[in-house]
Amino acid sequence: MSPTAGPDGLPPLRDIIERHGLNAKKSLGQNFLLDLNLTRKIARLSGNLDHRTIVEIGPGPGGLTRALLMEGAKRVIAVERDARCLPALEEIAAHYPGRLAVHPGDALEADWPALIAGSEPVTIAANLPYGIASLLLVRWLETEPWPPWFDRMVLMFQREVADRIVAAPRTKAYGRLSVLAQWRTRAKVVMSLPPEAFTPAPKVASAVVEFTPIPMPEPQCRVSTLARVTASAFGQRRKMLRSSLKQLTPMPELLLREAGIAPERRAEELTVSEFATLASIVERGDQASA
Ligand code: SAM
Repeated sequence: MSPTAGPDGLPPLRDIIERHGLNAKKSLGQNFLLDLNLTRKIARLSGNLDHRTIVEIGPGPGGLTRALLMEGAKRVIAVERDARCLPALEEIAAHYPGRLAVHPGDALEADWPALIAGSEPVTIAANLPYGIASLLLVRWLETEPWPPWFDRMVLMFQREVADRIVAAPRTKAYGRLSVLAQWRTRAKVVMSLPPEAFTPAPKVASAVVEFTPIPMPEPQCRVSTLARVTASAFGQRRKMLRSSLKQLTPMPELLLREAGIAPERRAEELTVSEFATLASIVERGDQASA
């Protein structure tokens, strides 16, 4: 082990970045975590990693990847779009034989069940590239069939996105993402990070959110119907539901009466459960007219 090696015997991340010329690219949302104490703390938020497969999006120079392996992950399956990072990641893979598989490519195009190929239980853990963080999250939350192929997610977002995920009704941050996330998972903010925790420092603060999928979300409805209802309601969030839901159904008042929801209420006042109730009634109507 060289005198400057990290606690895992691998070179410090700053040396790796310099050696491989990994100057951060804004277009790829590259804000790296270089402090292994911090990444290990994040890895520990993912719970006991023994016997777990971790899917990591965007390992970059490998700060979180190394922490996950040090904390005992059985296997890490990582998808990285930036080919410049691959030699650095190969060094980590060689240091942990058989425990790190790196897939070059775009996480938005990954076939997750094929990548994990039966290696449950799976946690998704990532310091996500901010440009595609919400899109990736919505795709995971809309996974079919449900319960999904992962049983936990520990994800870093911009603080503003984390606030939207866990927002309560009657707050400015409450919206489509809050309803989807809270209907299908128990979501909570488990760590806040200032911009200086990253290199380079982004303009805004960040937060880690932990998601635990709810096996059978209640009230039951299809996730696609719930998405239609929330899109319509929050599309005009300041309007009363009897007006904003016209996009969804020609007679919103009938739907609202059946759900026991006053037509004067507005989208941001409805609970997650009320949205799912609306979706289940819409579905029954869809089936009746089919
Ligand atoms: N995990 C590293 C860390 O914590 O220091 C890097 C995190 S950095 C915020 C986001 C990473 O995602 C970068 O390595 C970037 O190259 C990668 N990335 C960006 N877009 C991606 C995509 N569409 N698919 C896979 N990886 C992507």
